[in-house]
Amino acid sequence: MTLAIDVKGLNKSFGAKHVVQDFSIEVDERRICGFLGPNGSGKTTTLRLLCGLLTPDSGSGTCLGFDIISQSDRIKRQTGYMTQRFSLYEDLTIAENLEFTARIYGLDHPGERVDQALRRLGLANRRAQLAGELSGGWKQRLALASATLHEPKLLLLDEPTAGVDPKARRDFWDEIHELAGQGLTVLVSTHYMDEAERCHEIAYISYGRLIARGTAEEVVKGSHLITFHGEGPDIAQLAHHLEGKPGVETAAAFGAAVHISGTDRRALEAAINPWRKAPYRWTEVEPTLEDVFIKLMGQAEDNFA
Ligand code: ADP
Repeated sequence: MTLAIDVKGLNKSFGAKHVVQDFSIEVDERRICGFLGPNGSGKTTTLRLLCGLLTPDSGSGTCLGFDIISQSDRIKRQTGYMTQRFSLYEDLTIAENLEFTARIYGLDHPGERVDQALRRLGLANRRAQLAGELSGGWKQRLALASATLHEPKLLLLDEPTAGVDPKARRDFWDEIHELAGQGLTVLVSTHYMDEAERCHEIAYISYGRLIARGTAEEVVKGSHLITFHGEGPDIAQLAHHLEGKPGVETAAAFGAAVHISGTDRRALEAAINPWRKAPYRWTEVEPTLEDVFIKLMGQAEDNFA
């Protein structure tokens, strides 16, 4: 395996704000690595540092084999970047947007490349339609086609599916997996749990620090969380009551049920024992990635305080 990303000890401050703190990560080529964490935790800044779009205050490393500080121009040429905001021209047609991108990159045979991208997208017969008339999901797929037109080796996606409907999100993710299958390394920030589960691996960032890393399964296992699934009358109210009791680290509603989690089994069971009888029903379940993220978020807030 070759590493697409290999950085150590990255730091970045904006004024007095230390936004990325001692950040190290290795990502293999052809992997889809998801960046998760609360808003403002430094995901976007980290993504930009990794590909040379921003210079770190300290730290070092390589991206696609190039030095992130002295060879950032080389990295940028092989990187595709797509953000949550639709970054194409709404008053240009679908084809014109792609032609414009092809020209900016100085690609050879731009017409052929655009035709190929349109066919791949299934938009060949709508090439003359204005980009602004597309639905949210199609806009993002067009933006993805534009970000990959120059055949980059690395793709950075910053919350690419925010506000896009579930079916369109699924299509978008099928496309990302296809691109990874063709050799691209993908770094993607997201707030959606189902998307986190579709990544090969996850990096959870909180207040600028990397606090969990691995496959979804590894992150769940590494949390050492014990979770009880509870059902019954006014269960949400009960969860609220249990919140903050010794042993209860997270209490969260899951539809009509609740998940109560903690890492100290004895204390956790002592907290829920008074309600472990009819009409309440409790079963111990595997924690979900969401349970783990809620715990990590709470932990980070404590540390920050
Ligand atoms: P996330 O992507 O996790 O929401 P960001 O990396 O966008 O987090 O932002 C982390 C913090 O850094 C935020 O508090 C944000 O306001 C701040 N920040 C980001 N970019 C700049 C900048 N160019 N100048 C000043 N502050 C910034």
